[in-house]
Amino acid sequence: MDESNLLSALLGGSILLLLFIAVIAIVVAVLYIVGLWKLFKKAGKNGWEAIIPFYNNWVLIEISGLNWWYFFILISGTILTILGNFGISLPVIPLVSRVATLAVYFFIFYNLGKRMNKNPSTFGILGLFFSGIMTMVIGLSKDYQYDGSIEVSKNGPIGVANNSNSNNEPERYCLGCGQKLKPNTAFCENCGKKVE
Ligand SMILES: [Zn+2]
Repeated sequence: MDESNLLSALLGGSILLLLFIAVIAIVVAVLYIVGLWKLFKKAGKNGWEAIIPFYNNWVLIEISGLNWWYFFILISGTILTILGNFGISLPVIPLVSRVATLAVYFFIFYNLGKRMNKNPSTFGILGLFFSGIMTMVIGLSKDYQYDGSIEVSKNGPIGVANNSNSNNEPERYCLGCGQKLKPNTAFCENCGKKVE
């Protein structure tokens, strides 16, 4: 084997390796989209919403029951990258964006864990480190079913779980003993007085 043959063999090998990496990357990307598609369907959304950039993040925030404005943290990294392509680089903000985005992923998967009747902290930590893999697994596996009626906090692990009904209802107290009353209750659970 002379030198030019060796060179072409190495070149051929490199091209094969690059092709292999490209195929793996495409397979992973497709699996992620399919996972997100299935997850959206489980949550009663349209599967195709998973393939629309930015909007798919909006839907992800929505089905996790978080405040809508977390969406802007989620897309902040992409926006900073776009700004960077235009030569605009900001101090500190990229770091803040990166840390905040990780926190939002923790919040998303914390709430999704609750709504899938799993341990929310475990879900949150796995989602923080492996959001792509977690999306695939909870989207594709039948072991994970979504229940949107499960109450979650709009701030993930921070704050109390609320559904939309109890948000609108003012707090009521028993006229007899002052005990705080549960919503839609007919009698005070402390003294038994009828709620008026
Ligand atoms: Zn009472």
